[in-house]
Amino acid sequence: MDGKALAERIRGEIAEEVRGLGEIGLATVLVGDDPASDTYIRLKHKAAGEVGINARDIRLASHTTEEELLEQIEQLNADDAIDGLLVQLPLPDQIDEPRVLRSIDPKKDVDGLHPLNFGQLALGRPTHVGATPVGIMALLEEYDVPLEGARTVVVGRSDIVGKPVSLLLLHANATVTICHSRTRDLGAVTREADILVVAVGKAGVVGPDDVREGATVIDVGMNRGDDGVVGDVDPAIADVAGLLTPVPGGVGPMTIAMLLRNAVRAARYRRRLLAFPGA
Ligand code: NAP
Repeated sequence: MDGKALAERIRGEIAEEVRGLGEIGLATVLVGDDPASDTYIRLKHKAAGEVGINARDIRLASHTTEEELLEQIEQLNADDAIDGLLVQLPLPDQIDEPRVLRSIDPKKDVDGLHPLNFGQLALGRPTHVGATPVGIMALLEEYDVPLEGARTVVVGRSDIVGKPVSLLLLHANATVTICHSRTRDLGAVTREADILVVAVGKAGVVGPDDVREGATVIDVGMNRGDDGVVGDVDPAIADVAGLLTPVPGGVGPMTIAMLLRNAVRAARYRRRLLAFPGA
């Protein structure tokens, strides 16, 4: 499944939407100097610039206090030039992540991690939903993968990927099983899957014997090793799977494209072109 090609097409559509809406502002806040986070932020800013979104790159020192970060977020919440806002995770240990996520204006919360947005998703009335899960759904749609009644296994239960993609699949009428580090006999569960989504962060956690012939496999993992970035699934799965997302070039580019789409959505909420619950 060519995520790069689909993401490129979507970015073209977004550029048109941005021209139609006028100035759109997206702010990212990075605390500390984690090299992987730095790379993601750079990719996001490059992509935003290419579609005409004004991206503001806010960097705070690794010793920033929780109060200082909250103050920064408050300023961005109040800033009329900023439509979308994300805080790059993980945050340093001295900062309470849930408190920070709760402080983001839900309308601007392009990562969909504010409890209001996450709750809306759980209730089946999605508002802002994280870019990675939305990108996965777009790939499945693009490749006409039938979801209704499909046996779907999601490996990983993080708030950023596993849980939200499970909810989106459930609302699309798939039958969803969620696995995690305590799952017994993971292979026995994954072999049941028509659609298998793997978001663990460990190279080779799923091998060719763990996949049913012809299954659709979405590899979310991005693991940095000596050979560059590799996914979570053993590449030999390509011989068994019907469809497979490559790493790189699968979910990664879709995440970036969908973040831009979420920024456009945030601009629509703020301009009242789209109704936001309770607003
Ligand atoms: P995370 O927060 O670390 O969550 C990992 C999940 O995997 C947890 O639920 C954990 O279970 C589960 N797990 C760990 N070891 C396991 C095992 N041996 N068997 C089954 N489940 C296991 O990770 P994340 O943020 O979701 O990210 C996962 C991967 O996706 C990472 O490689 C990350 O870099 C990548 N990622 C890629 C994109 C993209 O755009 N392509 C976006 C986001 C993340 P417990 O809950 O029991 O601990």
